Amino acid sequence: MGKVTGFLEIERQDRRYAPASDRIRHFREFVIPLSEETTRDQAARCMNCGIPYCHTGCPVNNQIPDWNDLVYRRDWQAASLNLHSTNNFPEFTGRLCPAPCEASCTLNLDDNPVTIKTIECTIADRAWKEGWIVPEPPAHRTGKKVAVIGSGPAGLACAQQLARAGHEVHLFERWAKAGGLLTYGIPDFKMEKHHVFRRVEQMEAEGVVFHYGAHVGVDVPVEPLLAEHDAMVLAGGAEQSRDLPIPGRELSGIHFAMDFLPQQNRRISGEPPLGDMPAISANRKHVIVIGGGDTGSDCIGTAIRQGALSVTNLELLPQPPAKENKLLTWPDWPLKLRTSASHEEGAEREFAVMTQKFSGNGQVERLHCVRVDPKLAPVADSEFELKADLVLLAMGFVHPVHEGMIAALELELDPRGNVKADTKAYRTSLAKVFAAGDMRRGQSLIVWAIREGRQAAAAVDEFLMGQTNLPR
Ligand SMILES: Cc1cc2nc3c(=O)[nH]c(=O)nc-3n(C[C@H](O)[C@H](O)[C@H](O)COP(=O)(O)OP(=O)(O)OC[C@H]3O[C@@H](n4cnc5c(N)ncnc54)[C@H](O)[C@@H]3O)c2cc1C
Ligand code: SF4
Repeated sequence: MGKVTGFLEIERQDRRYAPASDRIRHFREFVIPLSEETTRDQAARCMNCGIPYCHTGCPVNNQIPDWNDLVYRRDWQAASLNLHSTNNFPEFTGRLCPAPCEASCTLNLDDNPVTIKTIECTIADRAWKEGWIVPEPPAHRTGKKVAVIGSGPAGLACAQQLARAGHEVHLFERWAKAGGLLTYGIPDFKMEKHHVFRRVEQMEAEGVVFHYGAHVGVDVPVEPLLAEHDAMVLAGGAEQSRDLPIPGRELSGIHFAMDFLPQQNRRISGEPPLGDMPAISANRKHVIVIGGGDTGSDCIGTAIRQGALSVTNLELLPQPPAKENKLLTWPDWPLKLRTSASHEEGAEREFAVMTQKFSGNGQVERLHCVRVDPKLAPVADSEFELKADLVLLAMGFVHPVHEGMIAALELELDPRGNVKADTKAYRTSLAKVFAAGDMRRGQSLIVWAIREGRQAAAAVDEFLMGQTNLPR
C-alpha cells in the first residue's frame, strides 16, 4: 500500500476536458492529462483493500492496488510491466473504458473512487514515451499456424498472445487498416488512431502477419483458409445494426450510425470513402440521433463537429436516476444517468420517447413521436413531432453478420444469434475453430474483447500444444 492515510488526506482529482467551445472545432483528443505528481497523489489514495473489489470489477482483472503502489513509489516501469501482464492495450482502455473498476472501488461508497482509469492511461502513455514498450518476440517457434479473423481489440489481443507463445499468426481484416471499431467506429476525438497503429507495428515485429482487404467468407474463401491453418479464431465483432422498421424508414437521410461514423474516421485518416456509400454529413442540418448509448453519444459529438444546426438524442427507456443506491448496487455496475463529453457539447436529450413514423417528400423531414411509460406503452395524447434533416439510428447491434463466413462454416449460434462457444474452451461447433469478442458475446466493451482475445489465445495454445503458459 502506498500512503496509509492517502485516502483521508487527498481529494479525488480526475482529468478534465478542454472547454466544449474549443474542442468542437476539431476531431482531436481533448482530455487534459494530470501531471505526474498529481497522478502519484491519486494512486496514493488506494487503500489496498483486503478484498480488492476493483480486481473483479475490471474484466481483465488488472492488479490495480499493485500498480497504484508502484506509481506511488515512482516505479513507473514496474507499474507498466505489471499492467501489461493483464492488459495488452492499456492505452486503449485508459482512454475508452467506462471503468467498471471505479464503480467497484471501496472509495466509491462515498462517490470518491480512486481515479483508476486515469492512472492506467498515465502508466501506459509514460511507458510508450520512455520506450519501455517494445516487441516481445518468442524465444522458440512452435511450427503451428493460426488464422485470426478480425483485427478489433479481441483479434489483436488474441493474435499478440499467440505470437508471443511462438505460433505463426496470420490476422485477416477486411478493411484497409487494423483496429476494428477502435479505428473505424470510435471517433478520433475519443482516441486518435496512432495509438492503434503503434501497436500494429509492435505486433508485426513480434511476427504477426496482417492481411488487409481480406473479407473472409466473401472474397477470401474460408474453407481453404481453415485447411491451411492448425486453428482459426473468429473475432469479427457483432456488426449487424438494429433497425427501426417503421413507416417512412425508406426515406433518404435516415442512416445507421455505422454508416455515418466510419466515414468521418476515413475522412480524417485520408482513406477514400467506400465505393457505393453516399457521403453523409450533418453540416447545417437538424440531426436526430435515436439511441442513448455509446454509439449515439459518438454520433452526437461527430454531428456537432461537422456543424449540425441542432442535435436531439432520443432514448426509448425512461431517464435513469442521477445517483444510484450504493447499498443496493455496489460493487456492481449501477444503472444511473451518464452524461458523456459529447452530450455536454450541446445535444438535447429526450427519454421515454418512441418514434412511430418518419415523414417527408423523398427526404426525411419529420419524426412523429410519442412518449411512453416505464412499460414502453404509449402515453395518451403525448404525440409530438420533431424536425429532422438527418436521422442516425444508434440502437445497438443485434449479433454478428451471418452471411459469408459464419454461414459458410455452418456454425452453431446461441439463442441471440452470436457464434456459440463457452468462456473456457472458446471452441465453436466446428473442430479447430474458436470465437472471441463481440462475435461470441454480442455487443460489448473493448475491455471485454481484450479479455476474450487473451483467454481464447490460452485455449488455442492449449489445444495446439496440450498445455499452455499463457495467462487467462
Ligand atoms: C460507435 C461505437 C463506439 C464505441 N465506444 C466504446 C467505448 O468508448 N468504450 C468501449 O469499451 N467500447 C465501445 N464500443 C464497443 C467496442 O468498440 C466493441 O465492444 C469492441 O470493439 C469489440 O471488439 P471485437 O474485436 O470483438 O470486434 P470489432 O471491434 O467489431 O472488430 C471486428 C473486426 O473484424 C473484421 N471482420 C468482421 N468480419 C470479417 C470477415 N469475415 N473477414 C475479415 N474481417 C472481418 C471487422 O472489419 C472488424 O475490423 C463502441 C462501439 C461502437 C460501435
Ligand atoms: S481496463 Fe477498464 S475496468 Fe480495468 S482497470 Fe482499466 S479502466 Fe478499470
